[in-house]
Amino acid sequence: MSLLSPNVVGMTSVGVGTSTALSPTRSEAPSLPTASLSPSRAADFMSCPLRYRFRAIDRLPERSSPQAVRGTVVHAVLERLFDLPAAERTLEQASNLVGPEWHRLLAAAPELADVAGDPAGPPCGVKPPQAGQLPEWLTSARKLLSGYFELEDPQRLEPAEREHLVSVVLDSGLTLRGYIDRLDATPSGEFRVVDYKTGRTPGEAFEGKALFQLKFYALVLWRTRGRIPAELRLLYLNDSTMLRYTPDEGELRAFERLLDALWRAVARATATGDFRARRGVLCQWCDHQQRCPEWGGTPPPLPPVQVPLAASGLASATAPRGTRQSVALAAAPHTMADGTPTVT
Ligand code: SF4
Repeated sequence: MSLLSPNVVGMTSVGVGTSTALSPTRSEAPSLPTASLSPSRAADFMSCPLRYRFRAIDRLPERSSPQAVRGTVVHAVLERLFDLPAAERTLEQASNLVGPEWHRLLAAAPELADVAGDPAGPPCGVKPPQAGQLPEWLTSARKLLSGYFELEDPQRLEPAEREHLVSVVLDSGLTLRGYIDRLDATPSGEFRVVDYKTGRTPGEAFEGKALFQLKFYALVLWRTRGRIPAELRLLYLNDSTMLRYTPDEGELRAFERLLDALWRAVARATATGDFRARRGVLCQWCDHQQRCPEWGGTPPPLPPVQVPLAASGLASATAPRGTRQSVALAAAPHTMADGTPTVT
């Protein structure tokens, strides 16, 4: 993995411009709570199993921040940009798409009006309105697009896929799925995965999470296309930084074992109801402090869910409500003290 800024080198993209329909509120690949893993849910379980439970099993609502909604708009603009003829893919055209994409998103999710400071918007689900901030917010989205143009020249690219849902069932029975922002391909069959990030480049402490996501996509593509991506590229638009990663087969095999071990840990937690809270730096962004034991709260009863046989190696079971037991994780490549696999 390398950090470059700002620089575009390597593969020239060619291919047929196809696009998966964009869900305006897409932030996560659709998944069954205990049948599949996305990069985000896997990362949730590794950082805090209880947070995973709240999100993947309880499916408790969370607030959308203005930054997250802005990220959705910017992703939509970057997808639409490639609908235009190559010569028209300019920063000005991209900036012109911000307003229409925002309104398209708003039409699909009116509760997001709060982000624009509309006091008539529904009060739940979104952080408190900040009146009069819409122009500034839209300008900040255009700044992110400016950051993109410092990294790539979209006039030279013809993505093979955009907002592309990838999915694979591993030999263990675990389904992996996720959305790839852009897939570039060459006539020789090589391909490159591109992911846009609207936050800042992560510090060393969070670099592992970005690497985890890239390996996840690389593994799915390798297993579905029989070819390891030539490159995985993260574009941090906020500070015009590119993070590139070239996976190899041995690494991806090890990563697959890690995911299988992680899945067994999820299955065991589901079977026993033991989703432990792990207090840490991410708590400050967690919407569930009021129901978290680490913060004096009490989790709601665990909904009944089926533990999948294939990945767990356990007898199929319905998770008991409120049962808490200590469960050891066997044969995990890297584990924390409570048995949760970790990213290395
Ligand atoms: S507040 Fe912290 S410890 Fe509690 S569920 Fe959220 S991330 Fe986990």
